[in-house]
Amino acid sequence: MSVARDYFLETVGHGPGCKAAGWVLQTDEMTLFGSRGLTIRAVCPLPAGCGAFEEWRIGAATSLTDDGPWAYRSGLVAEIGFGTAPVKVGDAWLHAGPLLIPRFEKEPDYWLVSRSREWPMSWSDVIGMVSMARNKGGQVKSRWIAATNFRPTSRNGMAPTANTETQTSRTAAVRWVLATHTPQSPAAPHAAGSTAPSESS
Ligand SMILES: [Zn+2]
Repeated sequence: MSVARDYFLETVGHGPGCKAAGWVLQTDEMTLFGSRGLTIRAVCPLPAGCGAFEEWRIGAATSLTDDGPWAYRSGLVAEIGFGTAPVKVGDAWLHAGPLLIPRFEKEPDYWLVSRSREWPMSWSDVIGMVSMARNKGGQVKSRWIAATNFRPTSRNGMAPTANTETQTSRTAAVRWVLATHTPQSPAAPHAAGSTAPSESS
């Protein structure tokens, strides 16, 4: 018996009345503390679909009869960000990030900013990030943070090289990103982990 296989066969379902023809599938393979794992997600993106998602996380089994560690969850795309309807602000599009504390939060904690309606598939598609500023206790302040010009760090990741914490609204934060963003020169190393085919722009 295989828990993972049984779950694949049984559970994917759209919301009531959803007219979407299928699912957007995402897979992500990663190695954590020496053990390999795979995340598979089926997403019905808004606004055309119902916004449902199902997700399976599967760890490498230690033997043929062992399923290995696994986890399953389902919910609405607001929880994961991907598949939420993009929001247009000026010449930019905002894509909601995942809720950092899903049980307690309803609004996204941050938005990725891109020039395209399409979900950013690599860092080269991201021109910035905006979020509400929070004080040390976690309460939202009446200021917005914006960050842009993400560049590879010496460790495995990306970090902004320009940011502000004093924007008075989300729109102002996005305008700051649009005014401050400088495209990375083509000679610079490509965003780490990007497997999306590059598009001419
Ligand atoms: Zn659906």
